[in-house]
Amino acid sequence: ALILGIETSCDETAAAVVKDGYEVLSSSVASQIAKHAAHGGVVPELAAREHLTALTPVLDGALREAGVTLAEIDAIAVTQGPGLIPALLVGLSFAKGLAMGNRIPYVGVNHFIGHIYGAFLDEANRALEDGASYPLLALVVSGGHTSLVLIGRDGKATALGGTIDDAAGEALDKGAKLLNLGYPGGPVMQRTAEGGDPHRFEFPRPLTGAAGKPLAPENRYNFSFSGIKTALLYHVKHHADESGRLPEALLRDTVASYQEAVVDVLTRKTLAAAKETGAKTIVVAGGVACNSVLRERFERLTPPGVRLRLAARKYCTDNAAMIGGLGYHYWKKREFSAFDIDSFARLPQITQIPFLG
Ligand code: ATP
Ligand code: MG
Ligand code: FE
Repeated sequence: ALILGIETSCDETAAAVVKDGYEVLSSSVASQIAKHAAHGGVVPELAAREHLTALTPVLDGALREAGVTLAEIDAIAVTQGPGLIPALLVGLSFAKGLAMGNRIPYVGVNHFIGHIYGAFLDEANRALEDGASYPLLALVVSGGHTSLVLIGRDGKATALGGTIDDAAGEALDKGAKLLNLGYPGGPVMQRTAEGGDPHRFEFPRPLTGAAGKPLAPENRYNFSFSGIKTALLYHVKHHADESGRLPEALLRDTVASYQEAVVDVLTRKTLAAAKETGAKTIVVAGGVACNSVLRERFERLTPPGVRLRLAARKYCTDNAAMIGGLGYHYWKKREFSAFDIDSFARLPQITQIPFLG
């Protein structure tokens, strides 16, 4: 079956055609980064307007690249939430219109679960179908989320924990803004950190039991990234020259150390959770999973006997292939959406993974 995916939850307008859930025939992404950069972050109303103009060309591009026409599409899957409501609304309304006008069934899907699904694209469903993969521990680490979810073969999902304040991607974005490095922060921080000494400065590792603070049991699988950002603010005040900036070598070591704190917390907590829950697979997905230092650390520290699935870089940041792939599993069960569904901003409690069980 051919599923058309549509994604507009934040600042990328994306469309993709996915065959039978895994084979990505096309994945077209138009980024609005340049439009938002001047504001130092995503402006929801601006994002909505940009989606409106970008959707038709992006859709046409995805269909053309896949070599298919709308008449051949079996179902449309669209991001319903979580995300920015004005941005989500544009994609959802567009998908509804497309579905209605062309008599194609459509389904609204969850962006967060889409990120997890992104780790299984472009490959036969071996890993998903193989009982030996479970339980599976997913770390979703993006601009809005930092969560650990334990998933059983039957699709039963348990949210082990998540951030109690900022997401990891947010910490990188805000850190980069504070250092005047630009937006989005993740990629620019990674580039700036190259060749720097990640151990020169010690940024806090909140909720890890480090710094002599005992870790409350309820926070064992939780994260906190707002303190790192505050520590950076004081660090800059302390080390900046007369112009208020950090000299180049110091900047490099600062960013490397900051990135290291984020990577260290993410990997340590995830690996501890995997050990404690007996996870057979660790999945790392979401925009921050693009990060090379994070990927290398997981590759190095994942114990033998545990499978590691890092989402391919092109499916880490927002894309519609993960939405179209996920949509296939709804098509298989003929679970489609009514035309009166609404977008939602916040992640609901995840208890079942729709493509399992
Ligand atoms: P969410 O999925 O939680 O709603 P989002 O859709 O905005 O948020 P994504 O597109 O999945 O998030 O990811 C964007 C985030 O990924 C940004 O915070 C960005 O800084 C971060 N990011 C992208 N590339 C890298 C990288 N190479 N290293 C670290 N972070 C990165
Ligand atoms: Mg984005
Ligand atoms: Fe996302």
